[in-house]
Amino acid sequence: MNARRVAIVTGISGQDGSYLAEELLARGYEVHGTCRGKNGVVPRTSELDRLAHLDGRITLHPIDIVDFASVRDLLKQVHPHEVYNLAAQSSVGLSWKQPIETGEVTALGVTRILEAIRSVDPSIRFYQAGSSEMFGKIEESPQDERTLFRPVSPYGAAKVYGHMITASYRESFGMFCCSGILFNHESPRRSVDFVSRKITRTVAEIRHGRATELRLGNLAAQRDWGFAGDYVKAMYLMLQQDEPRDYVVGTGVVHSVRDFVQAAFDHVGLDWRDHVVVDPAFYRPADPKLVVADPTAAREQLGWEPEVSFEELVRMMVDTDLAIVRDEIATESERALPSRRVA
Ligand code: GDP
Repeated sequence: MNARRVAIVTGISGQDGSYLAEELLARGYEVHGTCRGKNGVVPRTSELDRLAHLDGRITLHPIDIVDFASVRDLLKQVHPHEVYNLAAQSSVGLSWKQPIETGEVTALGVTRILEAIRSVDPSIRFYQAGSSEMFGKIEESPQDERTLFRPVSPYGAAKVYGHMITASYRESFGMFCCSGILFNHESPRRSVDFVSRKITRTVAEIRHGRATELRLGNLAAQRDWGFAGDYVKAMYLMLQQDEPRDYVVGTGVVHSVRDFVQAAFDHVGLDWRDHVVVDPAFYRPADPKLVVADPTAAREQLGWEPEVSFEELVRMMVDTDLAIVRDEIATESERALPSRRVA
């Protein structure tokens, strides 16, 4: 009999999926992940770059999680103890352009997995990736598990549905289901669509002389930013408790975009005022205010604490981007060299 714990991570090729896969492997799990694919073939896309270092240690299943039968068959085949649902259309901006697809994947996708678990083996434990975006129009601060949801984006609305249906399966069928309400969490694996990585990538380019300016929107916008590698530990811990419940996960500390910018430029010895240009094109129609987590329940019941501080996070991201840009420059200059003649 297989004594190893078995987990399925949907959306394993994303930032959180790759960190969670590492966390579970380090704990001795057999790790399976779903990714988008056609006819059972794993696509060769840059999306899978985040998993390159785990090659051979995880099993990828190219399935469409919008297809109920595929999800159910995967559960029957793999027999997991735990399922972590990180698959989503995860961009807030894109959710305005694709509200129907966002609902299909980010909202109804959750019900498909829960329903598949219920029909195959209701003892499988389930983690749903909730989001602080569910709070939307914030009227009380800080936010905890009892704070009202007033989502403003199609993404936020879809995540609220996912959160609620997770609670519904827990209450109605006694299933072990948890939703983590995660505040912004970043890392060197974040995409440049997010302001954190946009800043660190551009700072590295400026430091290496490949760019001169960084164009940003609202510098006064504030967020509770943490390190993604810390947050996946909270996901794991939620599924190891005696009782299932939902948790807010964040640092409880807010910083502005300006703070992020200043920390990143300071780290490379440059003055941000010489390079940052405020561009109205990057302003949002509405920016939530007072976004800050109260992670008391996670701390007291899960024993969870963020380990990487804001300053360490910024330095880690800048250092990684400096190395990436340096490698890109080296590769380009190698290509530019005339090929050597063999005598
Ligand atoms: P979000 O919390 O998921 O929306 O995370 P983002 O990293 O995309 O945005 C965080 C905050 O940064 C928002 O309040 C934006 O208004 C602000 N921001 C300021 N300039 C930029 C920019 O150039 N790009 C992005 N993505 N956000 C910006």
